[in-house]
Amino acid sequence: MELLSHADLARLHPTGEHPEQPARLRVLLERFPGFTEGREAEVADIERCHTPAYVDWIRSVDRETWFTLDTVCSETTGRAALLAAGTAIEAARLGGFALVRPPGHHALPDHAMGFCFFNNVAVAARWAQAELGVERVAIVDFDVHHGNGTQEIFAGDESVLYASLHRWPFYPGTGGPEEQGPTLVNVQLHRGAGDEEMLAGMAGDVEPVVRAFEPDLVLVSAGFDAHLEDPLSDTAITLECFHELARRCASLTPRVAAVLEGGYNLATLPRLVEAALTGFEAEE
Ligand SMILES: [Zn+2]
Repeated sequence: MELLSHADLARLHPTGEHPEQPARLRVLLERFPGFTEGREAEVADIERCHTPAYVDWIRSVDRETWFTLDTVCSETTGRAALLAAGTAIEAARLGGFALVRPPGHHALPDHAMGFCFFNNVAVAARWAQAELGVERVAIVDFDVHHGNGTQEIFAGDESVLYASLHRWPFYPGTGGPEEQGPTLVNVQLHRGAGDEEMLAGMAGDVEPVVRAFEPDLVLVSAGFDAHLEDPLSDTAITLECFHELARRCASLTPRVAAVLEGGYNLATLPRLVEAALTGFEAEE
C-alpha cells in the first residue's frame, strides 16, 4: 500500500504545545521517507462537504484565531487543510494511506472543532463518487473519538455507510447507542477497553454490516489515539490490535484506502502506523 503525505504538513499550521502539532508528521515522515507526495484539494472538492462561506473563511484567516477551546488556526492552516484533504483524495484514487494533518473527522459542514478543519475522509469519499464513478462508499473509523462530522455530512445519504468504534461517553459526546441507522453504525467502547472489546465490536457490529452494504470502496479513518499509551484516551488498545483492525478493514472489499486521524504519542505513532500499514497489506 502506497503511503502519501507532504513535507509541508510537518511545518504548516503550528499549534505550539497543542497535542495536534507538526511534530506528528515530522516523526512519521522520518520513519517513512519514501512517501508519494500529495497535493492540495481543489476548493470545489472541499465544497462537496463544506459550505462555501466556511471554506472561504478558513482560507482567509491571517492571524492566530481560536475556533473553540481546543482548536486554533493561523495563516498557514488553510493550506495545510487543503493539502490534507487533497492527499486523502489521492489516497482514495491510488488505494493508499494518507499520512496527513490536521485530522478531519470532527469537521462539520460549516464548523471546525476537535483539531479538525476540512473533513478529509468525507471529501475523499465524495470525490471518489464524483470522479471515480464509485457508487457506494463505506467509511470505517477506529479513532477513539466519534467522528461526529463524518456522521453529520452523510446523514440521510444511503450511498455512504459510516461505521465508528469509539469510546463513549467521551469527546465529542455523539455516537451513543441510540444513534444507528440503515447506513450508520456506532459501537461504544468502555473505559479501559482492550483489544478483545474492540475486535468483538469490529467482528460483531461493523464487519457484517459493511459486507452486507457491498461497498465499491472502503475508506478507513485510521486514528491511533485508542492506544494504551496515548495521552488523550483511557482505552488500552495494543499495536497488534491496530494491525488486526487494518487487516480486517482491507478484507471487506478489494478497494481500500486510509486516512490518518488522531494519534498523539509521538514516540508510538510511527510504530502504530507501520502496524496498520502491514495489516492493510496483509490482505492485498
Ligand atoms: Zn481522536
